[in-house]
Order: sequence, then C-alpha cells, then structure tokens
Amino acid sequence: MPELSGWGRTAPSWAQTPSPAEDLGRLVRGSHPRGVLARGLGRSYGDAAQNSGGLVLAPGPPSITVDRTRHVATVSAGTSLHDLMRQVMPMGYFVPVTPGTRYVSVGGAIACDIHGKNHHLSGSFAQHVESLDLIGPDGTTRTLGQDTDDFWLTAGGMGLTGIITSAVLRLTPVETSLMSVDTERVPDLHTLMRRMRESDDDHTYSVAWIDTLASGRALGRSVLTRGEHASAQQVRHRRRGGALPAEPRLTAPPYAPGWLISRPTTKVFNEMWFRKAPAHRVGEITDIPAFFHPLDGVAGWNRLYGRRGFVQYQFVVPDAGEQAMVEIVRRLADAGHPSFLAVLKRFGPGNRAPLSFPMSGWTLAVDLPTHPGLRTLLAELDRIVVAAAGRLYLAKDSRLDAETLSAMYPRLDEFRAGLRRLDPDRVFRSDLARRLDL
Ligand SMILES: Cc1cc2nc3c(=O)[nH]c(=O)nc-3n(C[C@H](O)[C@H](O)[C@H](O)COP(=O)(O)OP(=O)(O)OC[C@H]3O[C@@H](n4cnc5c(N)ncnc54)[C@H](O)[C@@H]3O)c2cc1C
Repeated sequence: MPELSGWGRTAPSWAQTPSPAEDLGRLVRGSHPRGVLARGLGRSYGDAAQNSGGLVLAPGPPSITVDRTRHVATVSAGTSLHDLMRQVMPMGYFVPVTPGTRYVSVGGAIACDIHGKNHHLSGSFAQHVESLDLIGPDGTTRTLGQDTDDFWLTAGGMGLTGIITSAVLRLTPVETSLMSVDTERVPDLHTLMRRMRESDDDHTYSVAWIDTLASGRALGRSVLTRGEHASAQQVRHRRRGGALPAEPRLTAPPYAPGWLISRPTTKVFNEMWFRKAPAHRVGEITDIPAFFHPLDGVAGWNRLYGRRGFVQYQFVVPDAGEQAMVEIVRRLADAGHPSFLAVLKRFGPGNRAPLSFPMSGWTLAVDLPTHPGLRTLLAELDRIVVAAAGRLYLAKDSRLDAETLSAMYPRLDEFRAGLRRLDPDRVFRSDLARRLDL
C-alpha cells in the first residue's frame, strides 16, 4: 500500500490506490470495509485526501471541452487548473477562481470550495460551477445543478458525498493573459486593514503578504498587492499573449537541513522581502504565474520544511472580529515561530454550502514548521477564532478536534444530516472525517 500525505507532510497514512482507469462505479459498489475516497493532486495540507487502510482513487486524466458561445468548459474532475489555463488562455479566457497554486484538480477545487484573491467580488469556486457529475454510494452517476441541495453538500463537502467525475465551469473572458499590478508597502496592520477596507472593492484581486515576525510599531507590516487582467490597450506595445503557465523550472532537494526555515533565516528573508517591495508602484505588467502562483516555480517546495513537515493555519473571522485578527498577529509575533508565508485577505459573503469556509470578513493563512511549542500556540489561536465567531479551513487543517470544529461551523449538523441521507452506510470516508467525526 502506498503512503499518502497532504502537502504539509504531517500525518501520512497508507491506502490502496486502484488505477483511475478501473470502473469507478464498480469500485464504489465493492464497499471496501474502510471506505472509498477520491483524491486530486494532494495539495490540501492535512489528511483530507487520505483514507487509512481503505481505497483512495487517484484523479483521472484531464479532459477539456470549451463552448465559446456560452463561455463554459466541460472538464473532467482530474483536470488541473494548470492544464485548464494552458488550454483556455490562448482562447481569451481565464479560470474564475484560482488558489495560490495551479496544481489543484477541479474535483479538489469543488470538494474544498476553494477561494482566490478575488473572493471579495467573485465568491468561491463552486459558485462558478453550473453542474457536476457525482458517483454516489450505489455506484451510479447523477448530474447535480446549483438548484439542488446535493450540489451544495458536495461543494466544500471534502469528498464525503461521492466521487466528482466532471463539471461544467463558467470561464472569465480576458483581453490578454497578462496582469496589471499595483503594489504598496504598508507600515503596520492597522494601516493595512484600513487600506483594504476602504479600497479592496475597487480591485478584482487583492492580497497582502505580512511579516509575522515584525513586532511593536511594525506589527503586521506588509506588502499589499492588487491586480487586474491587463487590457489590450494597456499592453499594446507588448505581445498580448504573455507567457502561458509553464512547468516548474526548479526542483527542491529531497531533504532540507533543519536550520533552513528557522527564526534567523526567516527574519532575514522577511526583511529582504519587505525592503525589496516598491513603496508604491502602479500598473506593473506581469504574467499570470508571477502574480498568482509564485511558489509553483519550485517543484516540491514543501520538502524544504524537512522531515517533520509544516502546517498551514488558515482562519477567517467576521468583519466584527477585526480585533481578533490583530490579537492573533500579535500572538504570532510574540511567539516568534518562523513563517515566510503569511497572507491576509478580505472575503465577501459565503454561499449555500454548509461546510464552505469563506464568510464575509478577514482571513489569514500562515505556514508554520512543526515545532514542539506549536500545538499549544495554535490551540490558543483556535480559542480566539471561536470567540470571534470565526473558523478554520478544512483544506489546510491537520489538527482540529470534533468539539472545536462544531464550535466553528454552525451548520455542521445540517452537513452531517445531509451525509446520513446521501450515504447512510458511509461508503465515502477519509482520515479527516474520522478525526472530526463528520
Ligand atoms: C501552495 C498552495 C496554495 C494554496 N492556496 C489556496 C488558496 O489560495 N485558496 C484555497 O482555497 N486553497 C488553497 N490551497 C489549497 C488547495 O486549493 C485545496 O486543498 C485543493 O482542494 C487542492 O486540490 P487537490 O486536487 O490537490 O485536492 P486534494 O488535496 O487531493 O483533495 C482535497 C479534498 O478534495 C477531495 N476530492 C479531490 N478530488 C475529488 C473528486 N474527484 N471528487 C470528490 N472529492 C474530491 C478529496 O477527497 C479531499 O477531501 C493551496 C494549496 C497549496 C499547496
């Protein structure tokens, strides 16, 4: 049985992995005693795409058909956003939502109802899916539209409602495959949040990198980046096409020394990153990978965290919980855990999916190497998030317990009742579902 882990490499487990070429309906009907789960490209950080001792189905091959009159693509669930971008960008389209990596499958994007830098205006991935095909526990396939409850149970449903095999996705027409980007250095967290509150809605994409090691008056100093798809007019002196997303040019070494991501190295990196950002620059033309997916340039960069792996702590608090965000950034700075990747975003309203993560408010995602004191710190942060009526993102989680989860997701019982109706014998299971009693 192969070992499978999430992107953070913290809690591997072993499962049988039949070929995606096998008859999926038959595999599901075979009712394996430890259940069945679909896996995409394994970019969720924790144990969401693992099913210890059971069956884990790898993503099938990519398949993309574009309807240029309706601006939609019919795609297989195993298609990555990388493949999709390479196919549709030369036709003048972009994906409606992209996360910080394009190496996610469409199935995984729906099952986690992923968000991008445009959530405040465009919502999450499932909102752009017209319909999806789902293999249920009896092995038969149903087509579900947005007008059905089962569509919304599946969106953000972490693979527990069945196997998504394909989806019809709305595409975003764009004039060029380049971005026009505004960047500004921001001295502290209060200024950053004010800037984002006042003007995020004027920008399609908006995100801020935060130096979580800065403290005192510099607490939350950051680099705020906003972007638009560049118009043909803006790039009239350049090749409009820009570069299509390419495969990574570099590969991380298989093992990294423990000191690589430590407090001293991260402090130096963060200082350099902050200083190298322009104080204020408007309308810089960049390509898609540079703006959306800078980390994709190095294959296997997660190995740089060494054998113990790392966690990404991502939470959201409602607008009224702004003080909780400040408190958490302060606790991170006081604790001094090294993190070179911490990003702050404003979300727009959530959607009908009971387990979907986004809600109106502020979200912070922080990568942290596993470390003896980390559990205690994160448990304290969980309490602040719960007190502020916020929640953690299951696609990133590897450590929550069932009790804390129910304090965070007010519609959890609705989700559990939906699963009992859809899959009473619990054919679909995962390590995450067992840990969180989903
Ligand atoms: C560098 C990096 C940046 C990221 N940035 C963001 C971000 O900005 N926004 C964001 O929202 N997320 C982000 N993520 C998380 C990522 O988008 C999600 O975890 C996404 O679901 C990963 O897709 P995947 O194909 O790798 O799915 P996997 O990790 O393989 O699986 C995730 C879940 O989807 C289920 N699933 C997969 N395929 C299917 C299927 N065919 N049918 C049913 N269920 C299925 C699995 O069972 C599992 O529960 C980031 C991850 C990384 C590594």
